[in-house]
Amino acid sequence: MSERFPGIDWFCDRCGASLDTQPGFDDHKYIWRCIECGHKNSISSTNIYDSHEDYWNGKE
Ligand SMILES: [Zn+2]
Repeated sequence: MSERFPGIDWFCDRCGASLDTQPGFDDHKYIWRCIECGHKNSISSTNIYDSHEDYWNGKE
């Protein structure tokens, strides 16, 4: 079983929780519901940022 996005760390868009450590997380899913806050995060290449700074800067 391989990951769609090897080496990518996924974080919740709302609360910032690490998603890939949550039970049952699978990056083959297109939507992952954060177990911390319930936010539905989209798991796709358009949501990959090089760093958290890029993420926050691009969020404006
Ligand atoms: Zn969350």
